[in-house]
Amino acid sequence: THAAAKLDVARLNSFYGPIQILFDVGLSVGRGEVVALLGRNGAGKSTTFKSLMGLVDRREGEIRFEDAEISRQPTYEIARRGLGYVPEDRRVFGELTVEENLEVGRQPARDGVTTWTPERLYDLFPNLAEMRRRPGGQMSGGEQQMLTISRTLMGNPSLVLLDEPSEGLAPKIIEQMAEAILAMKREGLSILLSEQNLHFARLISDRAYILEKGRIRFSGTIAELEANTAVRDQYLAV
Ligand code: ATP
Repeated sequence: THAAAKLDVARLNSFYGPIQILFDVGLSVGRGEVVALLGRNGAGKSTTFKSLMGLVDRREGEIRFEDAEISRQPTYEIARRGLGYVPEDRRVFGELTVEENLEVGRQPARDGVTTWTPERLYDLFPNLAEMRRRPGGQMSGGEQQMLTISRTLMGNPSLVLLDEPSEGLAPKIIEQMAEAILAMKREGLSILLSEQNLHFARLISDRAYILEKGRIRFSGTIAELEANTAVRDQYLAV
């Protein structure tokens, strides 16, 4: 539908074993856009991300990323094409230092995409610079979240999926996270992030979708969503 979209998802249906979780999900992310996928606990946000990465048991539908149909490709191939994924549970390598964690993520640069280096990532997340020799397991949740995002950026993706990047973070850290995501956008990255409520998403997103029980219930700009109290009350956490 969007000729210029980086990611275009249509009629996505996903299953864990026999249980269907996503029903005809459709969404798109344009080049350089920040898009929020909103919805309460259990709505299917993480399952959507896992489906895009090929990590659910079964998925049907169309997933177009750049110029390729990726819905039948394996996870490593999807990642190689430049789709970065930061899961909700962070997964830093606890025994490795910050700088070693970053090296694990290093992938060759991609045409037309910012090339990330540890030094540039320390500019993006100044906290990490002071901790570069510290083991990942000895960092706070917020620091681990920053490290996981940074490790993903070391792969030089052109679009990043961020699963609840503000979850469990202190207000001050949430502010830093919002600034970092906006800086990533300024570098030309496209971003799809999930959140349970609007507070964080509204600071950084251009558009939003709302997911409920595995179906898209709303699609529009952040301004449209803020004006629509009925939809917010019905589908979002307060
Ligand atoms: P959360 O904020 O809790 O992560 P979410 O919107 O990301 O919520 P999902 O994690 O995608 O929601 O879960 C959607 C539904 O799929 C829930 O009903 C959940 O219980 C179910 N589910 C998730 N993972 C599995 C799994 N591995 N096997 C079976 N059902 C699952």
